[in-house]
Amino acid sequence: MASIFSKIAAGEIPSYCCAADDEFYAFLDINPIVKGHTLVIPRREVDYIFDLEDDELARLHVFAARVARAIKQTIPCVKVGEAVLGLEVPHAHIHLIPMQSERDMLFSNPKLQLPAEEMQAVADAIRANFQG
Ligand code: 5GP
Repeated sequence: MASIFSKIAAGEIPSYCCAADDEFYAFLDINPIVKGHTLVIPRREVDYIFDLEDDELARLHVFAARVARAIKQTIPCVKVGEAVLGLEVPHAHIHLIPMQSERDMLFSNPKLQLPAEEMQAVADAIRANFQG
């Protein structure tokens, strides 16, 4: 059975798309730690990120870097932080988190509840800034 993230990348489950190409897909985390919290996934379904082939892992990171630049242009922040957990969803993904301070990287922080219109506006702005 396809993972929830495979269904999102295939458009079978809705998401706030931030960037996409044939191989990778980026979308807003539904329970963001901060505004602009984005997930980047390979379309190919692999659970553990460090089980990806070296080339695919490298390309995923290059794609994530392009998404991070678009996030930084969209959300005022000091830097965009990167984290990999994968404890909840068994489909490799990178968290990109616009940081004002180290505290913004704490996954134990309360999750934000942003209105759908605001999530859509953030995703649209990141997509507009993404250099495809
Ligand atoms: P992890 O697997 O890295 O521990 O956590 C999975 C992340 O995916 C969480 O931050 C969670 O909010 C996010 N997430 C889980 N299910 C969905 C979903 O259906 N849509 C979106 N956009 N994010 C999700």
